[in-house]
Amino acid sequence: MSNTAGQFDVAAPYPRLSLFGKVYEVDYIPSRRAKSAAVGTDRIAVLFPPSETAEVWKTFLARFYKEQLDAVLPAMLTTWAERLGVNPAGYGIKRMHTRWGTCNPYTRQIWFSLMLADVALPLVEYIVAHELCHLLEASHNARFRFLMSNAMHDWRARVRELNHPAVRLDVYTAASL
Ligand SMILES: [Zn+2]
Repeated sequence: MSNTAGQFDVAAPYPRLSLFGKVYEVDYIPSRRAKSAAVGTDRIAVLFPPSETAEVWKTFLARFYKEQLDAVLPAMLTTWAERLGVNPAGYGIKRMHTRWGTCNPYTRQIWFSLMLADVALPLVEYIVAHELCHLLEASHNARFRFLMSNAMHDWRARVRELNHPAVRLDVYTAASL
């Protein structure tokens, strides 16, 4: 069952999903229980009641991607906050399509875009370091770049990769939500 243009198979809507820069084949297992997904080496198993609407699927996927980000972000935040010598107040994840993250230096609150679940973990890590660096310097000036270079020597290469179109895989992704 494929998900070709203009078609939406309610029983198996996304044949492949991207997660952290990798494409996974999706196995759908009909279930009457609550929706859940488990990530394996190359495949993602999804337990799901059949015949759900596109909106229900999207809500489920948004929660799935958020859970995946929540599994990696706290450790990255701890590591990079220590390295930069900053103390963030907390973080949240939301749908943002124009930016990967935001940081309010006054409240020290950081927001990450759900579409970070699309890119490889070193790129997620760069965004974490970038937003934390804003706790030291609000603008993208020479001081900001100096602080970034000091903390993460290859950050420019990660930016190039992040901005390269190839990073957006041709499959259903968190950025589509
Ligand atoms: Zn910035």
